Amino acid sequence: MNDQNSPSSVDGELVSTGVRSLRELIEIVSGRSLKEQMPAEDFGLAEALPFPFLALVGQYEMKLALLLTLINPAIGGVLLIGPRGTGKTTAVRGLLDLLPPVERSACFYGCLPEDIESGGIDAVCPDCAQKYARGDSLTRTDRVKLIELPLNALLEDVVGGIDERAAIHERMRLKRGILAHADLNLLYVDEVNMLERSITDAILDAAASGRYTVRRASISATYRSRFALIGSMNPEEGDLRPQIMDRFGLRVVVEGLLDPAQRLEAYHRTHAYLTNPRQTIAAFSEVTQTALDEIAAAKSLLPKVILPDEVAQAGIRLVQSLKIDTLRAEVTLFEAARAFAAADGRTTVTLDDLQQIAPMALRLRRSDFMSKFIESLAREDEAIRGQFNQ
Ligand SMILES: [Zn+2]
Repeated sequence: MNDQNSPSSVDGELVSTGVRSLRELIEIVSGRSLKEQMPAEDFGLAEALPFPFLALVGQYEMKLALLLTLINPAIGGVLLIGPRGTGKTTAVRGLLDLLPPVERSACFYGCLPEDIESGGIDAVCPDCAQKYARGDSLTRTDRVKLIELPLNALLEDVVGGIDERAAIHERMRLKRGILAHADLNLLYVDEVNMLERSITDAILDAAASGRYTVRRASISATYRSRFALIGSMNPEEGDLRPQIMDRFGLRVVVEGLLDPAQRLEAYHRTHAYLTNPRQTIAAFSEVTQTALDEIAAAKSLLPKVILPDEVAQAGIRLVQSLKIDTLRAEVTLFEAARAFAAADGRTTVTLDDLQQIAPMALRLRRSDFMSKFIESLAREDEAIRGQFNQ
């Protein structure tokens, strides 16, 4: 198990390592900030009083995609594509009040019951082994968190690195990065098309495998990193590499509101929020609570939702008729349709569910490059065969 920040090694080092305030000192001494080593502002966490998600006017598809991701993280994340000022970031931050409960490891080392199921009792720390033997739970119920990747994040912030404070004291220790903190949470990456390549690759690799390993000097650590990725991009500011685009499950094109009445209502709500955010939040608190309950209910129903064979076959026929190669298309289509059925309180996916989800799951997946490439390959093969026949 990793020893990235064991509590015992902090005492006695504080006074010399530049603690900024008495409050910070007291928090570190009392152990409160040990598990969340970096202060919250380092993650650019969402603001304390976000604009209520349900107060957003229009933008049905964006709202649906984000809620389905809360219900079923296996959808593979959401990419919001659109110009500035269309409410992408506001919508994502508004999710703060809708985040469902999640079971997390109660142990400092992240031990989980499934570690014992797969690796035996030695796969967890001695404390957790004892707990397990007593029949106590190794997890606790928490809420999913929304973690934002700061625009100026460095690779070291993202994956973690040497803990400088520990290094001063000749203790080599690794510090958890944003990707480790994102475990079982939502990770929001604004302007994903503007990120440095190494950072995008690190995020996508972690998102795909649910874990990642950091090696620095002689030490290494592997962290769990199972998160739902939400990206946003403004196509006016640059393209997204096709292989990155492929990694996002649902794709939503967010346009400005077209209906003048909707635009006016959006103006009124924004104005009211800017004047008195608490009043706007209070006005939507009841529907927000209802939505929160619904999301939690859908999430617990999800494991029971089945995809009948005939519906799955229709989905695959659709994907193939669109000449989409990537298998991620089906995964997203089916998982999103299951979440959609669960959100409707049903345990069987219907053709209608697929139809509702298909545009979000399948658009922007066809690769012109690949179809041209395959065509030219076929021509070349024919030429080669032609040479043989001569
Ligand atoms: Zn443990």
